[in-house]
Amino acid sequence: DLFYRQLPKVELHAHLNGSVSFETMETLIKRKPHLIEHRMTAILSGQRRALHECFQVFKVIHQLVDSEEDILMVAKAVIQEFAADGVKYLELRSTPREVTETGLTKQRYIETIRQCKREEVDIDVRFLVAVDRRHGPEVAMDTVKLAEDFLLSSDGIVVGLDLSGDPTEISISLILQVGHGKYLLSALEKAKNCGLKLALHLSEVRAHGNVCKQNIPIEMCLTSNVKGQTRGHPCVLCTDDKGVFCTDLSQEYQLAASTFGLTQETLWMLSQQSIGYTFAPEPIKQRLEKKWVELKQQIL
Ligand code: 5GP
Repeated sequence: DLFYRQLPKVELHAHLNGSVSFETMETLIKRKPHLIEHRMTAILSGQRRALHECFQVFKVIHQLVDSEEDILMVAKAVIQEFAADGVKYLELRSTPREVTETGLTKQRYIETIRQCKREEVDIDVRFLVAVDRRHGPEVAMDTVKLAEDFLLSSDGIVVGLDLSGDPTEISISLILQVGHGKYLLSALEKAKNCGLKLALHLSEVRAHGNVCKQNIPIEMCLTSNVKGQTRGHPCVLCTDDKGVFCTDLSQEYQLAASTFGLTQETLWMLSQQSIGYTFAPEPIKQRLEKKWVELKQQIL
């Protein structure tokens, strides 16, 4: 539907490699035909996968995206696709990787994404450096230091730190005393103290966390939260992994609208309120607010 695409949107939760589209994936597979047997790179609509299977998909994508050239291509394509979907502000997150065979370093990984900002598309892109919890506290600390260097280099593209990675693998890492949140606290504290904004994945699995252990109920007032934003908890619609889950942000808004019977006016309010929850500096937020007001006159 045209309205959902035209609606200016803010995307705050998008993992780069999970956002790679089917088309880009085809190009990558052509480049690396020896990986052709691993064709499961997306979960098509109607299909469901257990969480650990989703993470298998990421492993395949990581094999396909393993050089500076690949990163550049996928990041440009993903940004372009979000822009074409009406996203005006995008926070991309990605785990810097090093690949000896291709000479990719973590530094170059971040640098390459940073270079992707393209003047000709109407989208503001910021980057969150991701820590994969499975890699333990030392890697986490190194990643924080790297992110801090980029934060200080002050073009404002790197704004924060993400903590992600397969939570179902956590029990193994717990035995090794690495991946559990407690052991990552000092890295997260350092990140916070140096001015990186934090976006953490928490409570994705039943196995750990007090909410699950003590059976604390989560109170969900969906309609109230969406319609009565002032009283409800802040709520931002996001895609997570648009490539892997075969969706886009317009579709997520459409889904919310049809599920809760939201009007175009409410949807507009929902997307506009997301501006306040970005990690962008104040002047950027003001610029986005202005854009929303101008576009509203044209579209609504
Ligand atoms: P990348 O960081 O390589 O750009 O994107 C893929 C990675 O994002 C995955 O390997 C995983 O670490 C993280 N990721 C993507 N979706 C999810 C999710 O739903 N939960 C968690 N915990 N991590 C995720």
